[in-house]
Amino acid sequence: MLVSIQNISFHYGSANIPVLAIPQWSVQSGERVFLHGPSGSGKSTLLNLLAGILLPNSGAIEILGQRLNALSARRRDKWRARHIGVVFQQFNLIPYFGAVDNIRLAAHFARTPNATGRAKELLQALGIDENLHHQPASQLSIGQQQRVAIARALINQPELLIVDEPTSALDTQNRNAFMTLLLEQAQRNDTALIFVSHDLSLAGRFSRVEALVEINRAGGQH
Ligand code: ADP
Ligand code: MG
Repeated sequence: MLVSIQNISFHYGSANIPVLAIPQWSVQSGERVFLHGPSGSGKSTLLNLLAGILLPNSGAIEILGQRLNALSARRRDKWRARHIGVVFQQFNLIPYFGAVDNIRLAAHFARTPNATGRAKELLQALGIDENLHHQPASQLSIGQQQRVAIARALINQPELLIVDEPTSALDTQNRNAFMTLLLEQAQRNDTALIFVSHDLSLAGRFSRVEALVEINRAGGQH
């Protein structure tokens, strides 16, 4: 099993009302999951838990058989770099680094060898021309930044790719192109995908579609 959630509960800080309470949820290798829910329903929180950026207050999350809260923060960061690619809503690129350097930095964290060549290959496959490879990320268009963020998420050949609402700033044409690239790359790299959005019109491209409200018991929905 790639992802296995057992009986987790999570609340922020000293609030005792949980944002998430999930009895059971799992994802198999290679699956492409579309997870939807309204704004504020806990989608980003769940992705942060899956990436081990946040830890549940109780229960267990295992990715590839590794219990995330069994690792120290430092080892968890390393483990994440090797096994999980994350595309955040705001991309989180280093603005004054070029595309290749943003990707190389992710490879450096995971100690992935030969990153420069593969970074260039990924950028090329995603339609970022060579003359843009060293342009500061802040000087790239949103669509170009998104593609750099996907390349960065894939550089360490992760088993799992987590993507948080990356299409909200795009018009329909760019959105469709982005989705095609993302799904193509996930397929080519044999990477499982958990894609989160409030935009149900994207769901048709995924083999598995789930509403967060159906798996989350927090907030008295069940
Ligand atoms: P979504 O991604 O579905 O819009 P979030 O996971 O961002 O939802 O948020 C779920 C709930 O948790 C919301 O009520 C939000 O206000 C709250 N929340 C999110 N991040 C934090 C935080 N860092 N500290 C406190 N509360 C937060
Ligand atoms: Mg969110």
